[in-house]
Amino acid sequence: MAMDKKTLDELKDALIAEKKDLEKNLGRIARPVDKEEGDYETTFSELGTDKDDNATEVDQYTQDLSVENTLEKKLQEVLDALERMENGTYGKCANCAGEIPVERLRANPSARTCINCK
Ligand SMILES: [Zn+2]
Repeated sequence: MAMDKKTLDELKDALIAEKKDLEKNLGRIARPVDKEEGDYETTFSELGTDKDDNATEVDQYTQDLSVENTLEKKLQEVLDALERMENGTYGKCANCAGEIPVERLRANPSARTCINCK
């Protein structure tokens, strides 16, 4: 059974909201390299030039880098899901091509696989 339009719209709204949220959070610590692809680069903030400032900068950057990687990965999953909606393959398991249950998509709209294949 194919997914009805109402459910699809709901999931699309959820994905768009998630995308905005991720972009907002990424914007605090990174700058977009390619927004379409969800590619970001962590920004290095200059706090000052003395030794303590430099150490804090490096700590902050290291922390931001790991947060940025996590957010970027999630954003790419969301963009990927939106792309699958466009080309009509959304809701199909990337592994076995079976349908992903709607409940699973509601919990995680960017899910690529069914429960058996996850
Ligand atoms: Zn599967």
